[in-house]
Amino acid sequence: MDDFLIVGGGVIGMMSALRLAEAGASVTLVERQRCAHEASWAGGGIVSPLYPWRYDAPVTALASYAEQFYPQLAEQLAAATGIDPQFTPGGIFYLRVEDVASAKAWASAFDKRLETASPALLETKLSQLTASSYPALWMPDLGSIRTPRLGKALRERLKQLDHVTLVEHTEVYRVHVNAGTALGVETSQGLIEGGHVVVAGGAWSARIIEPLGSVLPIYPVKGQMLLFKAAPGLLEHVVLMNGHYLIPRRDGLILAGSTFEDVGFDKSLPEEGYRQLYAQALEILPELKHCEVVQHWAGLRPGTPGSIPFIGALPEVARLSINAGHFGNGVMMAPAAGQLLADLLLGNVPIVDPAPYQPKNATSERLL
Ligand SMILES: Cc1cc2nc3c(=O)[nH]c(=O)nc-3n(C[C@H](O)[C@H](O)[C@H](O)COP(=O)(O)OP(=O)(O)OC[C@H]3O[C@@H](n4cnc5c(N)ncnc54)[C@H](O)[C@@H]3O)c2cc1C
Repeated sequence: MDDFLIVGGGVIGMMSALRLAEAGASVTLVERQRCAHEASWAGGGIVSPLYPWRYDAPVTALASYAEQFYPQLAEQLAAATGIDPQFTPGGIFYLRVEDVASAKAWASAFDKRLETASPALLETKLSQLTASSYPALWMPDLGSIRTPRLGKALRERLKQLDHVTLVEHTEVYRVHVNAGTALGVETSQGLIEGGHVVVAGGAWSARIIEPLGSVLPIYPVKGQMLLFKAAPGLLEHVVLMNGHYLIPRRDGLILAGSTFEDVGFDKSLPEEGYRQLYAQALEILPELKHCEVVQHWAGLRPGTPGSIPFIGALPEVARLSINAGHFGNGVMMAPAAGQLLADLLLGNVPIVDPAPYQPKNATSERLL
C-alpha cells in the first residue's frame, strides 16, 4: 500500500504527487481519463492571477511563491522529460485599466514590479495593438506557460519515478471509509487501498466528498477559448483588456480567452461564445482578422468564493485531505498548492501560512 492516494490527475493532483514523491513518499494517482485532459489542458497558462491586485492576500501568497518558481520548474521538467512546457517570460500588459490606483497600491504593498506603460513602451513592445489602450500597465516579471505541454511533462515525469503509480482511465466512485478513516477508493477497476487519500478532482471535487458529509463550495465555471494561427512575432506579450486576454505561443499561435459561465458541467460550444471571443480578440489586436481560427474549446474551472482554494485535511474523515478549488488560477498556483499540501502531509514547515486554505477554517462567508 502506498503512503498517499491521490484522486485526480490535473496539474494540482500531479504537482501534489510530484512534491510528495520528491520527498520520498510513495504515491498512487487515480485519474478517470488520461492525466491533464480537463481544466489543466483547457487553461490559458497565464502565470499570474488575471488582475492580481483584485484578489485577497491568500491568492497573492500562493501566486508569489509559484510565479518565482515557474521558470525553474519548466527547466527541470524539460531536462528530465524532453518535453518543454515553454515558460515564456516577457511580462503582461494591462490595457484600459479602470483601477490604476488600486493596482499601484497593491504592487507597493506586496513589493511587485508594476509600471505605467507609456505610449513609447507600447509602441516598442506592442505596436500592432488597438489604438485606444490607455491607461495601460505592465508587470514585467510575469509570463505564461503552455498548459498542454506542462500536463504532458508532469505526466511523463511522474511515470519516470518508480515510487509513483499512475492509474489512468479509472473512475473513482467513492472514498472507501471504515470507522471514520479513509482506507482507499472504490473505482471502476475495483477497490484501491491506499494510505492518506487526497481529493484533487478539480471542478468535480465537491461531488467526491459530499457522500462523506463534507460540504465545500467548489463548483464548475465554464470557460471557452479560441486559438488563432498567426505568424510568429505578431504578438510577443500576454495582453489583457476589458477582462479578456491574448496569450501568444512561441510558434505564433495566439489563444483568446475567456468566458466565465455558470452552466454546471456543460462543455458545449455555442456559436455565441465563439462570436464574443472573436470580437474581443479583434478589439485588442485588429490584425487577427487576417488569421485563421484553428480551435474552439471549453473547460471547467473549479470555482470557489474569492478564488481561494481548499488545501488541507477534511475534518469529517481521518486520513483524508483535499487540494481543489483553484478557480481561474490553478495552473499558476499548482507548484505552490502542491508544495503546501506536501508540507502539511509530511509535517514540514509550510511555504505559506496554511490557515486561509484549510477546510476546517472555512468561515460561513466562504461557505455561502
Ligand atoms: C478557459 C480556461 C482558462 C484558464 N486560464 C488559466 C490561466 O491562464 N492561468 C491559470 O493559472 N489557470 C487558468 N485556468 C484555470 C486552471 O485551468 C484550473 O484552475 C486548473 O487547471 C485546475 O486544476 P485541477 O487539477 O484542480 O483540475 P482539472 O485539471 O480539472 O483536473 C481534475 C482531474 O480530476 C479528474 N477527476 C474528476 N473526478 C474524478 C473521479 N471521480 N475519478 C477519477 N478522476 C476524476 C478529472 O478527470 C481531471 O483530470 C483556466 C481554466 C479555463 C477553463
